Amino acid sequence: MTRVRIAVHRTVGEARLQAGVLEAAGLSVEVRGESLSPLSGEIPSTETWIELWLWPQDVEAARQLIAELEENREAASKEVTCPRCHEENPGNFELCWSCGLEFPSTLRPRLRAVP
Ligand SMILES: [Zn+2]
Repeated sequence: MTRVRIAVHRTVGEARLQAGVLEAAGLSVEVRGESLSPLSGEIPSTETWIELWLWPQDVEAARQLIAELEENREAASKEVTCPRCHEENPGNFELCWSCGLEFPSTLRPRLRAVP
């Protein structure tokens, strides 16, 4: 059986983050290419790609986890204005950091804790 490449990253940090989430979910992740980029910028960019490889049976679960991770990151990058105190909150907050109001779901882009 051979592993399947499911993701390619430009930085080690991003690849590690994603691999960490997949491993936390019990998937066996192999990170390839990491050793090629000890210092970013010193080698051609095409050689700094970090690849994540998984067993075929884990691919479906991994894609879902990655999709959730991306959605959560997207949500976190959006600002939500509190309807009560009008403070700006990151889009992945469930409660206003300032007054503690629980945001109505219509305000929230999407909420799901990163495992
Ligand atoms: Zn508030």
